[in-house]
Amino acid sequence: MSDLSEKILIITAPSGAGKSTITKRLMETFPALSFSISAATRAPRGDEKNGVEYYFITTDEFKRKIKENAFAEWEMVYEGKYYGTYKSEIERIWKNEQTPILDIDVKGALHIHQLYPGQTLSIFIEPPSIDELKKRLRERGTENEDGINTRINKAEYELSFKGHFDKVILNDNLEKACSEAIDTVSKFLTGNLKP
Ligand code: 5GP
Repeated sequence: MSDLSEKILIITAPSGAGKSTITKRLMETFPALSFSISAATRAPRGDEKNGVEYYFITTDEFKRKIKENAFAEWEMVYEGKYYGTYKSEIERIWKNEQTPILDIDVKGALHIHQLYPGQTLSIFIEPPSIDELKKRLRERGTENEDGINTRINKAEYELSFKGHFDKVILNDNLEKACSEAIDTVSKFLTGNLKP
């Protein structure tokens, strides 16, 4: 097993904190990273495609996968909507001699940390404030007011866990947050930062 293939990188944050943008930037910067595609039971949004952003599956299929013990972790992230990381997805990426990058929610991140201790670096992206988070979610335009309120309530809860992660990056400025993330991941991938 090469050094890269033993590692897992997690980017977690309350929804709307800039996690996806930072994840994309990291992937452009480090060819050693490979996006871990989760299973999800929500419908695809916009031009999302099965097997690219998510493996979109039905709730029945998801429940069958839980019984088969196929997930490294799974969560009902929103009411009735399940998301999970397949063990096989992590194995697939390790076999390619790459490091999986997981964009997952806070509880899922804590589970992965427990399951793969000592080899997982977890980065928590902190939004500047709840008001700013609301503004970003409105501007993104993917949720109605109810959806925004659900995400805000969850964000307040998730913020209380930030002390459990290896690195907290405040995203009050996207460029600054991205370079801080790049610096941290560079040290992790080269073995100069032990989780
Ligand atoms: P969205 O529906 O906006 O794509 O994602 C909703 C939330 O689910 C995001 O916070 C995302 O990081 C999280 N998520 C995506 N995949 C997984 C997963 O496999 N496990 C967990 N626990 N959360 C996930």
